[in-house]
Amino acid sequence: VTELGTPDRSVITTCAYCGVGCSFKAELNGDELVRMVPYKHGKANRGHSCVKGRFAYGYASHKDRILSPMIRDSVDEPWQEVSWDEALTFAADRMRGLQEKYGKRSVGVITSSRCTNEETYLVQKLTRAVFGNNNTDTCARVCHSPTGYGLGQTFGTSAGTQDFDSVAETDVMLLIGANPTDAHPVFASRMKKRLREGAKIIVIDPRRIDLVRSAHIEASHHLALRPGTNVAVVSALAHVIVTEGLMDQEYIRARCDWDEFQDYAEFISDARHSPEATEALTGVPAAELRAAARLFATGGNGAIYYGLGVTEHSQGSTTVMGIANLAMLTGNVGRNGVGVNPLRGQNNVQGACDMGSFPHELPGYRHVKNDDVRDIYEEIWGVPIDSEPGLRIPNMLDAAVAGTFKGLYCQGEDILQSDPDTKHVAAGLAAMECVIVHDLFLNETANYAHVFLPGSTFLEKDGTFTNAERRINRVREVMKPLNGYADWEVTQMLAQAMGADWNYTHPSQIMDEIAATTPSFAGVSYDMLEEKGSVQWPCNEDSPDGMPLMHVDGFMRGKGRFIVTEYVATDEKTGPRFPLLLTTGRILSQYNVGAQTRRTANSEWHDQDLLEIHPNDAELRGITDGQWIKLASRAGETTLRALISERMSPGVVYTTFHHPDTQANVITTDFSDWATNCPEYKVTAVQVSHSNGP
Ligand code: SF4
Repeated sequence: VTELGTPDRSVITTCAYCGVGCSFKAELNGDELVRMVPYKHGKANRGHSCVKGRFAYGYASHKDRILSPMIRDSVDEPWQEVSWDEALTFAADRMRGLQEKYGKRSVGVITSSRCTNEETYLVQKLTRAVFGNNNTDTCARVCHSPTGYGLGQTFGTSAGTQDFDSVAETDVMLLIGANPTDAHPVFASRMKKRLREGAKIIVIDPRRIDLVRSAHIEASHHLALRPGTNVAVVSALAHVIVTEGLMDQEYIRARCDWDEFQDYAEFISDARHSPEATEALTGVPAAELRAAARLFATGGNGAIYYGLGVTEHSQGSTTVMGIANLAMLTGNVGRNGVGVNPLRGQNNVQGACDMGSFPHELPGYRHVKNDDVRDIYEEIWGVPIDSEPGLRIPNMLDAAVAGTFKGLYCQGEDILQSDPDTKHVAAGLAAMECVIVHDLFLNETANYAHVFLPGSTFLEKDGTFTNAERRINRVREVMKPLNGYADWEVTQMLAQAMGADWNYTHPSQIMDEIAATTPSFAGVSYDMLEEKGSVQWPCNEDSPDGMPLMHVDGFMRGKGRFIVTEYVATDEKTGPRFPLLLTTGRILSQYNVGAQTRRTANSEWHDQDLLEIHPNDAELRGITDGQWIKLASRAGETTLRALISERMSPGVVYTTFHHPDTQANVITTDFSDWATNCPEYKVTAVQVSHSNGP
């Protein structure tokens, strides 16, 4: 019995926070949701959960939710509540008018990793089949786009190689730029269980995260590198493995492109990659690097787990390829207990990428220039598909400032708060003539919007999310949408208002279309998900039950590719004015920009972002614990309280980005990954000084 009564029915669904994808029983008393109980048969979580999925669902009924559509002619005017028809007609007329005046490529969309696969598929379809261009991008642009590029280049597909169960057979974990205890708590528990059984862990992180030392766990090595030197550290590990003859030659000969390996071996053997040569650059003692490399290469099954501390750098894609090189060098891809495992941040970031959210790829990571692939969609959608890749988010904003990009439909994403260089984002949004925000709350981006379309929560819709292990989980409607329509219905109504003949009556029909057009989803249907509970793609004729382990007999691309990974220093430099390096991350109770968790009791655990600073750096500046400080970079400044912490390395400071008051992205730069434009959130030169508060 809960304070809301005794549950009399339950609905099995999936958590809408992180990429672990925990299954829950939503228990109801009548129509009242009384609690979320972790589902013991959930294959990703096996009955476990964290404080977000279990308790932080109250935002669904929060008073801040906007339930009526709103429009305004210009952003200086107050919002007017209107009917759905009026809002959609207003939005469609504006977008159509912009295309007539400025050309069909003058508008675009941003899809959401918070929404279902089916909803994301429809938004990219809206761009391609209705707007007639490929201007679709997604929030993965600012998180795991380098994973897409790096793993695509080396292994042939953009996804983690293993399922979560695989960790039970791991002997050595190499954890790079990820803090699972806070960001992926249920998987962190599985890692800890394995560590308590005797597995070893090497942590590469500038911060002493929980897995460096927590209850009964002591990392074998903590390589506390200087932010921005991931490539040099990964190369130093590879250098030791190659020059000391610790690589798995038999595996490399059988599974990888031998000529490319030889080029790579020659490159990486050069003395400039040795631990001794890179020690001063990375700040990691050479002896530690050597010992860590030997442990990873000889300690049995080696699995690599990584997060945004790898991808959100100017060399994010290079580091991902370096990680793939390490795994292939040591024969650690293609069986249980090993592999390369990006820890995806958002509940459906894997799915958003799978569903064709990127401006150069149709669903299933197939290039828009590929005539055969476009033919498939042209036949089913009945319209020609543009073969020219579209704009990425930063390019959309640049083009808006330049006056050539005029209209944006942004679903479930607060780009003003989450994207780098806030001033530039604001300038881009302000220059557009039609910004449509489709969200739960009037977020920061909505300050620049002309149309607000109310969104629905995960509790109010049917669909699927795909988690970090490629597992397609069902999301089931627990309650009717408070705003009247699930997000997929709103996108469909917008498409219809623009003249499209879309008539889906249930998301299962959208999944059927995905299956009919996307080889890796060919075997997926709601009926099969009902029967199996969940399935890991690829799921098709070749693997009808899905594929927990990828690249078992060969890589998806055939031979694995070693790619030369030259270290290039970021353009962001410390100096006398900005002598410290800022890096950012998450805390357990909050989630991303906090739009949901801040509207739940979880905020009691973390009601403000803090700046963690090493005691030496604090003392040097006369800063005491809890004091207000000014954090300034070349891009901007903000004010927050100091938290003096031995977790930090001297010279490095850290904050979270959960609260809009802090505006951490006012500080971050506009440097980005060379291959994907993923922003370099993890390296910003800053100064910290006294402040009287905001
Ligand atoms: Fe599971 Fe992640 Fe949700 Fe926590 S936030 S319950 S770990 S899916």
